[in-house]
Amino acid sequence: MPRYDAPIRDMRFILQEVLQIQNYSNLPGFEEVTPDLVSAILEEGGKFAKEVLYPLNAVGDRQGCVRSDDASVKTPDGFPDAYKQLVEGGWPLLSVDPEMGGQGLPHVVNIAWTEMVSSANMAFGMYPGLTHGAFQALMAGGSDELKAKYGPKMASAEWAGTMNLTEPQCGTDLGLIKTKAVPQPDGTYKITGQKIWISGGEQDLTENIIHLVLARIEGGPEGIKGISLFLVPKYMVGEDGSIGERNACSCGGLEEKMGIHGNATCVMNYDGATGFLVGEEHKGMRTMFVMMNEARLGVGLQGLSQAELAYQNAADFARDRVQGRSLTGVKSPDQPADPIIVHPDVRRMLMDQKAFIEGARCFTYWTAFQADLQHKAQEEGVREKSSDYMALLTPVVKAYLTHKGYECANWALQLHGGSGFTREWGMEQIVRDCRITTIYEGTNGVQALDLVGRKLAANGGRAVFSFFSDVDEFVAANEGNEELALFVEGLQSIKAELQEGTMWLMQNGMSDFNNAGASSHDYLHLFGLTALAYMWAQMAKVALESKGKEPFYEQKLATGRYFVERLLPDGAAHLAKVKTGAAPLMDLEADAF
Ligand SMILES: Cc1cc2nc3c(=O)[nH]c(=O)nc-3n(C[C@H](O)[C@H](O)[C@H](O)COP(=O)(O)OP(=O)(O)OC[C@H]3O[C@@H](n4cnc5c(N)ncnc54)[C@H](O)[C@@H]3O)c2cc1C
Repeated sequence: MPRYDAPIRDMRFILQEVLQIQNYSNLPGFEEVTPDLVSAILEEGGKFAKEVLYPLNAVGDRQGCVRSDDASVKTPDGFPDAYKQLVEGGWPLLSVDPEMGGQGLPHVVNIAWTEMVSSANMAFGMYPGLTHGAFQALMAGGSDELKAKYGPKMASAEWAGTMNLTEPQCGTDLGLIKTKAVPQPDGTYKITGQKIWISGGEQDLTENIIHLVLARIEGGPEGIKGISLFLVPKYMVGEDGSIGERNACSCGGLEEKMGIHGNATCVMNYDGATGFLVGEEHKGMRTMFVMMNEARLGVGLQGLSQAELAYQNAADFARDRVQGRSLTGVKSPDQPADPIIVHPDVRRMLMDQKAFIEGARCFTYWTAFQADLQHKAQEEGVREKSSDYMALLTPVVKAYLTHKGYECANWALQLHGGSGFTREWGMEQIVRDCRITTIYEGTNGVQALDLVGRKLAANGGRAVFSFFSDVDEFVAANEGNEELALFVEGLQSIKAELQEGTMWLMQNGMSDFNNAGASSHDYLHLFGLTALAYMWAQMAKVALESKGKEPFYEQKLATGRYFVERLLPDGAAHLAKVKTGAAPLMDLEADAF
């Protein structure tokens, strides 16, 4: 039977030994994160994920969500109770500001908890995940009145939040939004329109649902510049916080889809629903981006979390399943055949996953730590740099981790042979669930365009040059370390490739925008590899310092060596493809396809 056990040792390694978050006690919220507290959170969180959420993963997949004629939606058996336990346990409040009733702990600690939830049950995790994003957007753009009325209940996830962008005619191109907002004399707006594919748009987990809806105020400018953001509660809320009458919004239907069946993907109809403006008129995208950026990191984390789940089960299977004999002689003479883990090609599948997952976990946590520094660091320079990093790296985390995470899930399925294709082993669900991560929250293609079109050039390339100089500094500081040489040289060489790709883009992307578009996917992957190489070099340094203390460190170094020797060479192919420019892609006329 498939299983999930939170990778607590690896999480502690990154939080405490690589990032050393306990040394930042001068930052608000960090003063409490002693190693004991972090261990307690990870242990308890891991238990909740394993014992409460994971058993519902297959149930959610099989049952899915069901809509009744009265437009209510029932989530799978066990989901409401698990959600209740999640709220009662105070988990959604981990990193929330104490002013909103939270514990105020670092975002990076919350990320570790979120990874566990998402591994154990990705479809379930989306309900509190999107709620947290909606809460952040409200905090960033809402009036004091809106924050006071809705903030605490959303922070605790007692009320859920959703994100309403997509309409039948607009997905990527939000400038095409048709949903209308008509101003009312009392300062509210009447919202009318249809949104599709809204995750958690209706459910039976919470007493209220707070929809954040993008709409165009009547008479507002056309295109993206005329979009505003509104808070539309399912139930109106009285001055005293009590639940009032039903608002004019409802679920018109549920999508049947490939995966994440436990998460309700809804058509949402707004029929003159009462909405409250969040932020300024026509500047809704600015606030929605707070939610979208948070959600993008969350989706990257989903890719990683599903890879972890798949990998754990692939490793178990590889140790148990016996087929064929080792190429170098019998390894298990008491069995009719050797366990398949003796075969190098099976090892390749496992090592590809392991090397990606551990590097990607460090990269995600490191990026989440930048989010903490961005808000909490005392020096303005540090805040500016981490804010630059967040902007630059969000598309990389989203697209690289979901692309590779999905690939890992497929390798785990492949490793299972025919069993992977059957339901019993759980692999096919992971592959189906994980597939959406490369699509929603802005497709990976659009993330790559964001990286090359917007993020690289912002502030004259300040963010990418900071990244290069941080890598150079690490290389210079560790050049004489012979034991680390493989990692330092690997990092140096992939960074040189990324730098060459960046220069090529700067010289050729502006003169022909199709050059930028054509190279964007490979450039993003080159960036992802470089980021992971930087993480692996830092992890290897820490592991070398502790070598001999426990087998964990030797294993870390062996996995890191595999990353450098077997995964980093892909960088050269990505660079070659970056530099072909647009012609090979654009030569054919549309009717030739
Ligand atoms: C299960 C599920 C849950 C979802 N949850 C939500 C939700 O909660 N809230 C919400 O608002 N939306 C949600 N979505 C919608 C999701 O965010 C969109 O599907 C996604 O943004 C892509 O839009 P689209 O499907 O219309 O594709 P399109 O925009 O039509 O794109 C089609 C293809 O063209 C490419 N493409 C489009 N434009 C460009 C361009 N300019 N340059 C290069 N390539 C381009 C894309 O990469 C893609 O491959 C969900 C979708 C699904 C399937």
